[in-house]
Amino acid sequence: MHRSEITIDLAAVRRNVHVLLDALGGSRLWAVVKANAYGHGASDVAGAALGGGASALCVATVPEALALRRDFPAARIIVMGPALNREVGQARDARIELVVSSNDEIPPGVRVHVKLDTGMGRWGVSELMSPALEVVGLMSHLATADTDAAYAEWQIERFRAATAPYTHLERHIANSAAALRYPSAAFDAARCGIALYGLSPFGTDPAEDGLRPVLRWSSHVAQSKLLRAGQSTGYGRSFVAERDTWIGIVPVGYADGFRRDLSGTTVRVGGDERRVVGTISMDALAVELEGQVATGTPVTLIGSGVLAEQHARVAGTITYELVCGIDSSPARARRTVVDA
Ligand SMILES: *Cc1c(COP(=O)(O)O)cnc(C)c1O
Repeated sequence: MHRSEITIDLAAVRRNVHVLLDALGGSRLWAVVKANAYGHGASDVAGAALGGGASALCVATVPEALALRRDFPAARIIVMGPALNREVGQARDARIELVVSSNDEIPPGVRVHVKLDTGMGRWGVSELMSPALEVVGLMSHLATADTDAAYAEWQIERFRAATAPYTHLERHIANSAAALRYPSAAFDAARCGIALYGLSPFGTDPAEDGLRPVLRWSSHVAQSKLLRAGQSTGYGRSFVAERDTWIGIVPVGYADGFRRDLSGTTVRVGGDERRVVGTISMDALAVELEGQVATGTPVTLIGSGVLAEQHARVAGTITYELVCGIDSSPARARRTVVDA
């Protein structure tokens, strides 16, 4: 038996692509598969997204793009983060598009998108010069599409005004939250990541937006034991049984991506909601049971109604960071790709 099982559902990726294309009303959808597709597996997700109707792949770095190029010889691939000088030639040879954040760094022979800073306060030019020949797109990035509608709409309108003289270029500003909430942000294409994975950009139940989670993570009770009143589990004795309490030990810990600050969240043990108690260790966590359960009883960490959004709330973070941290390498887990 493996320590844990990670299942990636490609049919769910296609379903989410469909939901996003519907919301975009005619604009193109570009699948953001940086950081190994937010921990889901870049090549698998990219293939499903392209098959489902996405028309380009977006990543953060040139090495990520080069790895995808091997599997997708014909796809449009766009690197959204800055390229190192020595990577520009590699990008050109591999027909990879780059994003530049200054008017005077446009490398010859590479298709580029110029990034405008309309209010993110990060990468991007503050003012647009007349774009050079290599420029195929104009883009910007929203700081608050999931939290502050007024600011997002102000950024969208700034982008519209600044790029109005260049409607012959591809204009793109929307991320997942904007694609789902702001029709005015659609322009020519939207760069969507989180929603592709069936995770809510708003931190709520993804079903509210018709999204279906792509990743399922499960393990099992490896040992079940009775703590007598006053006995504790784990480092620091942060959980002490007030009365006789059965606990289950699950062979997943923070080295697998089940973070220490997830103590107190709920998972499912054989179908029942159970609380994670005590300090999460590197390779194990404990759940509070209502009685003894058999060794091997399945534990759902994410999936079947256990939402990554709920874990993120407990940990005070966002689902992006949670799923990026899940280690699906063979040394830690068995990863399966299904298409049903
Ligand atoms: C990561 C990223 C996106 C995707 O954002 P989601 O919220 O995951 O949809 C879009 N644009 C840029 C520039 C990004 O870095």
